[in-house]
Amino acid sequence: AHLDRVAAVEAKVNAFLHVDRDGALEAAKAVDAKRAKGEEVGPLAGVPIAVKDVITTKGVPTTAGSKILEGWRPPYDATITTRLRAAGLVMLGKTNMDEFAMGSSTEYSAYGPTYNPWDTSRIPGGSGGGSAAAVAAYEAPLAIGTDTGGSIRQPAAVTGTVGAKPTYGGTSRYGLIAFSSSLDTPGPCARTVEDAALLHAVIGGHDPMDSTSIPQPVPDVVGAARLGATGDLSGVRLGLVKEFAGEGAEPGVVAAYRESIEALVKLGAEVVEVSCPSFKFALPAYYLIAPSECSSNLARFDGVRYGLRTGDNGEHSLEEVMSLTRDAGFGPEVKRRVILGTYALSAGYYDAYYGQAQKVRTLITRDFQAAFGVADVLVAPTTPFVAFPLGSRTSDPYQMYLADLYTIPSNLYGGPAISVPSGLSEGLPVGLQIMAPTMADDRMYRVAAALE
Ligand code: GLN
Repeated sequence: AHLDRVAAVEAKVNAFLHVDRDGALEAAKAVDAKRAKGEEVGPLAGVPIAVKDVITTKGVPTTAGSKILEGWRPPYDATITTRLRAAGLVMLGKTNMDEFAMGSSTEYSAYGPTYNPWDTSRIPGGSGGGSAAAVAAYEAPLAIGTDTGGSIRQPAAVTGTVGAKPTYGGTSRYGLIAFSSSLDTPGPCARTVEDAALLHAVIGGHDPMDSTSIPQPVPDVVGAARLGATGDLSGVRLGLVKEFAGEGAEPGVVAAYRESIEALVKLGAEVVEVSCPSFKFALPAYYLIAPSECSSNLARFDGVRYGLRTGDNGEHSLEEVMSLTRDAGFGPEVKRRVILGTYALSAGYYDAYYGQAQKVRTLITRDFQAAFGVADVLVAPTTPFVAFPLGSRTSDPYQMYLADLYTIPSNLYGGPAISVPSGLSEGLPVGLQIMAPTMADDRMYRVAAALE
């Protein structure tokens, strides 16, 4: 049924870069066969899922939205993929994204944009717009996203779906094509909070293949979501981040945010205002740290190891072939970031830029720690604006970067954060963001499920 739905709506949505019809049917039959034999299968066995194209899938094309990886079929599965398969989930295909997960609208995909199912003249968010749109358009009940600066939460907010960024290190990065390794975090996209928690429980937990993976079990996110769904939040302290209570946001987003807070208070939550003065430096710090790490990570795309090779006709030196390949294979936003990151890391500038940004990161972490001394979770809008029209922010990178104003702090800190639908503004979805301390992912699920 989901494959039929994909076939029916893809011309309008373009959520998928690759649909693996045969693989999906085979995986579904394997689950049926297990059930027929009376074998134990997990709670998500047989459930279709879409996977962001930045996660490697053995034998199934994986491009990260880039021409430089066109035609590449990974020889191995990411840990996320392995866990999905082991739990019996049925992978429908790979979803569209901004190239190498750099962007907030999916317009920087080398394969054309994804369209927001609510209004196809608007963006579905990014970088994981394909995953969010697939879920919103009922092409898949679940999807995998990755969040480096907001790429799960912002697409969830603008498509009226649920998206969670787990604690950094709570989900494995093994087999995730690296953008900014100290920030990259895979996580669940779903239509309900409980669905997101069920998927989180399947993909989360320690992985010895990832040196930054936390050697602890996943908190009881499913139990927390079910507890929240009872609608009782008594004793829960919500920290309203003063700096994010509306500054820079559209009035309709602020109104939806206030209504959601009132709804949570009616369920018994207490409200405290917290001040996080360093959050205003999060965006500039992120746009030094993420490009710096990306300039190093993307060095591997040299025209030798994977995918595209340009100019290898005997007329060019090895260095020229690398340069021609990277020029042809990378899009403008990726080039901008590689150049920015190379500059920020170069001798003489390192302390002034990268070093300063790392200090800001420490200050942001301290703001979170102080706030969690008086509040159990922090709340803010997910993104300052509703889905914007396609093309309206591509000519000014700064306007695009602003989409992540509220999501980036939790990436720099490493704690979990979720976006949950929080009403409409001008007929378009708005998201509420709930942030929790590291390894307290269960708390955000409880509050999010109560709002639902
Ligand atoms: N939009 C942000 C960026 O362009 C975040 C991306 C992400 O989370 N992958 O870097």
